[in-house]
Amino acid sequence: MSAPSQSRTPAPAWLVEPDDANALAPLVWPESAVRDADGALVLGGIPATALQERFGTPLWVLDEDEVRTRAHRALDAFRAAAALHGVQARVYYAGKAFLSAEVVRWVTEEGLAVDVCTGGELAVALAAGADPARIGFHGNNKSVAELEAAVEAGVGSIIIDSLIEIERLAAIVGRRGASQAVLLRVNSGVHAETHAFLATAHEDQKFGFTLQDAPAAAARIRQLEGLQLVGLHCHIGSQIFGTAGFEESAARIVELHAELLSGGELPVLNLGGGFGIAYTSVDDPTPLEELAAGIADAVARQCEVRGIPMPNLAFEPGRAIVGRAGVTLYEVGTTKSVELDGGATRLYVSVDGGMSDNARPALYGADFSARIAARTSDAPPTLVRVVGKHCESGDIVVDAEYLPGDVAPGDLLAVPATGAYCISLASNYNHVPRPPVVALRGGEARVIVRGESIQDLLARDAGLTLTPTEGIDMPVLSERSESK
Ligand code: PLP
Repeated sequence: MSAPSQSRTPAPAWLVEPDDANALAPLVWPESAVRDADGALVLGGIPATALQERFGTPLWVLDEDEVRTRAHRALDAFRAAAALHGVQARVYYAGKAFLSAEVVRWVTEEGLAVDVCTGGELAVALAAGADPARIGFHGNNKSVAELEAAVEAGVGSIIIDSLIEIERLAAIVGRRGASQAVLLRVNSGVHAETHAFLATAHEDQKFGFTLQDAPAAAARIRQLEGLQLVGLHCHIGSQIFGTAGFEESAARIVELHAELLSGGELPVLNLGGGFGIAYTSVDDPTPLEELAAGIADAVARQCEVRGIPMPNLAFEPGRAIVGRAGVTLYEVGTTKSVELDGGATRLYVSVDGGMSDNARPALYGADFSARIAARTSDAPPTLVRVVGKHCESGDIVVDAEYLPGDVAPGDLLAVPATGAYCISLASNYNHVPRPPVVALRGGEARVIVRGESIQDLLARDAGLTLTPTEGIDMPVLSERSESK
């Protein structure tokens, strides 16, 4: 490490100027990421330059082996942690992180169940061949049509979010003469985010039942013939680094679970997802094995204190499965140096994507990192802000990063840890077509989600349906040979 940056630097306090602004931080990139002899970034055995040449930029790249490895490691970790207390664990992949047919196949082949939260996600999971009995269906406002589809498909569990939904689902199940297992979504009053958690007595948010309201909801479900209450569900937040929030939440939820046992069995306790990953070199997430053990131990302790049997556990990791597997490739279009108060400078590096392919910085102030991908450079590190091409000053991809000072138009730029909540949150803002998603495995690359073209966007515009668009000359389209 070089000396800490000068006090005048506009870099955030956590960002330390690196000795080598080409280095790939070990926890942030897919395990397959290396630089070849020429300094080019290689992902899943394929040079990033070859991916750029074949598919164009921006490009979402997903390392299939990384997803599969994370999936089966998660399964092993939660199963082992539960087995120590004599119970079982089921692991649902939280599809909201990123869902496509291929991803459903990968995670289900690795033994995971699937968590969906809309009719659209349900349709993808079913179309990809997921076993309906191993699908959990979430959502605070599932429509009648969505609930009908779930019951019709034989979805294993529906996580009930409101009193209205209890009656809505009971009516559907009653009409069909069906039977449906349900969980009750409960707010423990614990909110966890990254390093800290906050516990409140009352809840002021849209999801689920408060601890106070849950018993009446459980009693209502138990009155209804077609619904089987199999357990409670609680999700305390996302990108969580420690077990403290889960432990506090477990204490509260197990108390409720124990109370509800007087009205019938509750074989499952679903503790949701939220397990954090590294986005920058300073992030140090707790390994999933440790989190799993800590959570299972906490539940076991609480059950012991109350003298009740420990339920089987369920978890819903999303980010921890796909986050690190994703890398977004961009081409640098322009750079601009801005002199800041006190004489420091910041280099703005504009890329050919932005908030339409990664909304997390704009939505959550999320930090990411970046590296030049086609070469390495000995140029001294300079503080950069990577920005997109959208008409929005908050269109930031990487707020603060050190890159070699000679970063220039034409450079290929790679942003790691974009597998979760980037593709799934993408938009067409400014009529920018969404890039393709390319999966890497065994040195092969293949499109798993087709990229959009300008024609795709025009085709949705009802004002143009009478106007043939074939004659419109848009040279940009020809750049994306394989993804059209
Ligand atoms: N389960 C529920 C109910 C959620 O709301 C979420 C995320 O919002 C998840 C699971 C997945 O969280 P993560 O991707 O952080 O593991």
